[in-house]
Amino acid sequence: MKDEKKALIQLSNVVKSYSNGDQELNVLKGIDLTVYEGEFVAIMGPSGSGKSTLMNIIGLLDKPTSGDYSLNGTQVEELKEKQLAKVRNQEIGFVFQQFFLLSKLSALQNVELPLVYAGVNSSKRRQLAKQFLEKVELSERMKHLPSELSGGQKQRVAIARALASDPKVLLCDEATSALDPATTQSILKLLKEINRTLGITILLITHEMEVVKRICDQVAVIDKGRLIEQGTVSEIFSNPKTELAQEFISSTFHITLPEEYLENLSDTPKHAKSYPIIKFEFTGRSVDAPLLSQASKKFGVEL
Ligand code: ADP
Ligand code: MG
Repeated sequence: MKDEKKALIQLSNVVKSYSNGDQELNVLKGIDLTVYEGEFVAIMGPSGSGKSTLMNIIGLLDKPTSGDYSLNGTQVEELKEKQLAKVRNQEIGFVFQQFFLLSKLSALQNVELPLVYAGVNSSKRRQLAKQFLEKVELSERMKHLPSELSGGQKQRVAIARALASDPKVLLCDEATSALDPATTQSILKLLKEINRTLGITILLITHEMEVVKRICDQVAVIDKGRLIEQGTVSEIFSNPKTELAQEFISSTFHITLPEEYLENLSDTPKHAKSYPIIKFEFTGRSVDAPLLSQASKKFGVEL
């Protein structure tokens, strides 16, 4: 079939446990997750639910206690340490909240670093690093040290570095959590552009449903080490099955009534000229239906 989606990441019953003396801590309790090539996936969940642990396993920084993981057709459990490092360097790019840039190296040198490890010669390295700094709109800052860059610029360097090794997947663990709202928007815009133009699959851990709504295709919700919900953004938004997903969604609707209205609001009409306040939510097909004018005609009321 044409246009068939290719599964890039396939986790099956992935478990991660830590033993702490005689106690066993089950951090991931059997995760099944499939991510298709080119998707932009949001991973949501409360603090401590296992998001970073899952991300580190997907990024081959950590190994599951049990379960299967196939990355781009390779069964990861079967790889030896050396092969694992090779796959990690070739297929995975990481972007972290703390940037992890080397402070004594310039922006350009930081971006070159993965290419040094990959054994790319110095002139090719430089050329690629420049190209990716251009992609993140930082050409002007190539020679600067991390300490001479703003948070948003540091994260752009980190993104360029992640892209330099031409990865299939970009894993972003709270990549914008240390940034102010405007910078967050610009970094997210950049990530979306990378996803669209380079076709790189992106997994993004975030707490902000607003972010998810704007740029992601799929959402996975994790709670206490279990994947409790997964679907397209519109599925999750129009029909959240779990309380946690509902909470995430309601946190994006910052619509509150003005103080004056709230003060006058009562459960029963105060007088003949009282009007009810009604909140409508439109999902799916109802979005396009002229419901307000239909209701107005049918019931003879003004809305
Ligand atoms: P999240 O990223 O969702 O906030 P994490 O994946 O970082 O959560 O952590 C999930 C749980 O696993 C937490 O309870 C954390 O304390 C525990 N954990 C993470 N790493 C280790 C470790 N190396 N040893 C023991 N417990 C760990
Ligand atoms: Mg985390």
